[in-house]
Amino acid sequence: MDTRKRLDHIISVLRERGNRLTPQRIAILKAFVEHDGHPTAEQIHAGIRESFPTTSLATVYKTINLLKEVGEIMELEFDSSSRFDARIPHSHPHMICTRCGAIMDSDIEGFDAIIARIADDAGFSVTSHRFDIFGLCADCRK
Ligand code: ZN
Ligand code: MN
Repeated sequence: MDTRKRLDHIISVLRERGNRLTPQRIAILKAFVEHDGHPTAEQIHAGIRESFPTTSLATVYKTINLLKEVGEIMELEFDSSSRFDARIPHSHPHMICTRCGAIMDSDIEGFDAIIARIADDAGFSVTSHRFDIFGLCADCRK
């Protein structure tokens, strides 16, 4: 994952829309893009508080909503909280560790083709999909 490229892309999308990019907003975007663990809004907030002590959790959520509007972040909703992926913003499968809570991406080839086949079969038009695999991660299996 080229985080610099990904961050530059998000920044240019927001600039083109005329969104204001304050240093704290850029810090939030950077924190999301650099985090490879599908963070919560609270985790991102905690991570940038040292550099930007006045940034509120509400500001983090505003940035999330903005990213959702432009389709540059994916929200994984759970009963307890939401986790976010700003690195891969389109639908993709996840493996979720039921012991440590780790959420891992899969970029296996052919998955989208299977989704398309499932939908085609029912004359269904896909807008998004969600596929979560629950189990134990490699570390927790040890
Ligand atoms: Zn685990
Ligand atoms: Mn993901």
